[in-house]
Amino acid sequence: MTDVDFLVVGAGPAGMLTATLLARAGFDVAVLEKAAGLRRSFRGESVSPDSVRILRDLGVLAQVPDGAMRTVLGTTITDDGSRVLTVDFDRLLPGLELPAEIPQDTLLAAVHAVACAPETPGTVDVRFGAKVTALEFDGGRVAGVRYQAGRDERLITAGLTIAADGRYSTVRDIANIEYDKNMLARDFLWMKVTAPSEWDSDRYHVRINRSDHVVCIPTVPDMVRLGVNIPQGGIRDVRERGFDAFRDQVAAAVPELSDALRAEVTGWRDTSMLDIFTTEAERWSVPGLVLIGDAAHTMTPVLAQGVNNAIVDALVLTDELRAATAPGAVDPATADAAALRFAELRRPHVDAARATQLRQEHLFELRGLGAVVRRLVYRIVDHLPPVQRRIWTPVYYALTDAANPASAALRRWLEVVPPTTAERERREHDLD
Ligand SMILES: Cc1cc2nc3c(=O)[nH]c(=O)nc-3n(C[C@H](O)[C@H](O)[C@H](O)COP(=O)(O)OP(=O)(O)OC[C@H]3O[C@@H](n4cnc5c(N)ncnc54)[C@H](O)[C@@H]3O)c2cc1C
Repeated sequence: MTDVDFLVVGAGPAGMLTATLLARAGFDVAVLEKAAGLRRSFRGESVSPDSVRILRDLGVLAQVPDGAMRTVLGTTITDDGSRVLTVDFDRLLPGLELPAEIPQDTLLAAVHAVACAPETPGTVDVRFGAKVTALEFDGGRVAGVRYQAGRDERLITAGLTIAADGRYSTVRDIANIEYDKNMLARDFLWMKVTAPSEWDSDRYHVRINRSDHVVCIPTVPDMVRLGVNIPQGGIRDVRERGFDAFRDQVAAAVPELSDALRAEVTGWRDTSMLDIFTTEAERWSVPGLVLIGDAAHTMTPVLAQGVNNAIVDALVLTDELRAATAPGAVDPATADAAALRFAELRRPHVDAARATQLRQEHLFELRGLGAVVRRLVYRIVDHLPPVQRRIWTPVYYALTDAANPASAALRRWLEVVPPTTAERERREHDLD
């Protein structure tokens, strides 16, 4: 007998959605989160279209307050002062979902609201301030974890432990799961400013100015989130040159935002650093334990694949577990087999998304003659909508492929798991 059916470590997008979907299938789940709550300042907010569809279909978006998210219509890349590539997402595959910007705390609160809906038959017990420090074994199988809650050390056991504890996963380390870490040539400094009235807030804007590049992402309410690349590991040099020099460099790449930058980004405290690397865990599961989200596969920021793959992992894993096991009687061997199958189904798709990201990362790195080639590549893609479709569809619209395990998982969820009131209302609204 275990304390809960499933235990999730980490209340990010992967962990919260996994716990919520398992509860909707009738399981009792505990979530251990080391932070004090769901508040986050700089985190993944860009949600790609497949995830928007999953979140909409599963009733999560119905819990997002009006005006708390925004849809993005396209992307424009400007290189050395000239517009080189424009992609209109609504023309890639017309009629499908568009990417959305949803602040991560808004998203997590919406997922939690679904977990707490009266129709949800299982339970999600989120324990904040609970830092996992060790694994508990039973006959060589992970049977639960030990965690620190204030001064107390506590033990909790579960039929399966799901590690969703992010890019620096403690659970992955204490389970001795090896992983490859690939440091990329750049890191990112994030900042936010108010969008000036003339700013086109419906699109992503990528500005490349010699070796600098700045990604401008619309966010709510009427803000622009800027990601500025700096050389990998170069934060100390950037700081030594001084804050004003850094801000001038950003303003030179995005002159329309220079007034807002000067008024609202006044010191390093208004920035947040993201070191960019990818990781690939050699195994995603061992008996009693499965890794999901960034803990299994950290992505780069390109094309918003971090949050997307976290959400798709949650969907596919919970579909496998729901089909294989029953609430109150999670059979260890069956749960382990479901975890293995989840990894087999998902790994090729994550690998493909990462490969697309890395191709783009390498284009960003090109200098001199290489930069001329990059501009040429962008211009060619600009003129060839079928090529745009070929690049974007696998990462934005994988659910259109009926053979993708995520589309089958979503279909089964909608057939098997009773809808929440919010979902029922949406479906009736769609039929009207
Ligand atoms: C500044 C920034 C901007 C980003 N922008 C984007 C973007 O626009 N689009 C995108 O797709 N991705 C983006 N990402 C990446 C994205 O945030 C992640 O890919 C995504 O959040 C992964 O979800 P996850 O649930 O796997 O992990 P996380 O969101 O990292 O959640 C892991 C959770 O585990 C908790 N935890 C860690 N260790 C323990 C422990 N020992 N015990 C208990 N709890 C623990 C953490 O506190 C955290 O809440 C960004 C990341 C950063 C940092």
